[in-house]
Amino acid sequence: MSNKPADWTSGHEAILYQSCSACGGVQYFRRGFCAVCGSDTLQEKRASGEGTVYATSLVCRAATPETRAHVPYNIVLVDTPEGFRMMAHGATSLKIGDAVTSRFASFAGQIVPYFEKNK
Ligand SMILES: [Zn+2]
Repeated sequence: MSNKPADWTSGHEAILYQSCSACGGVQYFRRGFCAVCGSDTLQEKRASGEGTVYATSLVCRAATPETRAHVPYNIVLVDTPEGFRMMAHGATSLKIGDAVTSRFASFAGQIVPYFEKNK
């Protein structure tokens, strides 16, 4: 599992997660083993990009010069139907409990998942 994933962290418009063949556990942060049972029989799967907002945090102060143009921006924690929770960017109007779908947006020179409320 040392090769780079074909997901947004390498410039692809996709959200990937790992699913354990042994226990069915899922995880968003890539590891060489399952955080639940320790098995290394992990499968890479592509997430639907849907979810529910678990938490939001409005960032009003830029951490770096590259992000200054984006403030204020919203960082959200989203619970996915696949069973993992992920951190991502989101519309500033999002509230906890909102049903959301991700698209991809340019942020400080790279593409990032960006969640918007379902219509
Ligand atoms: Zn497992």
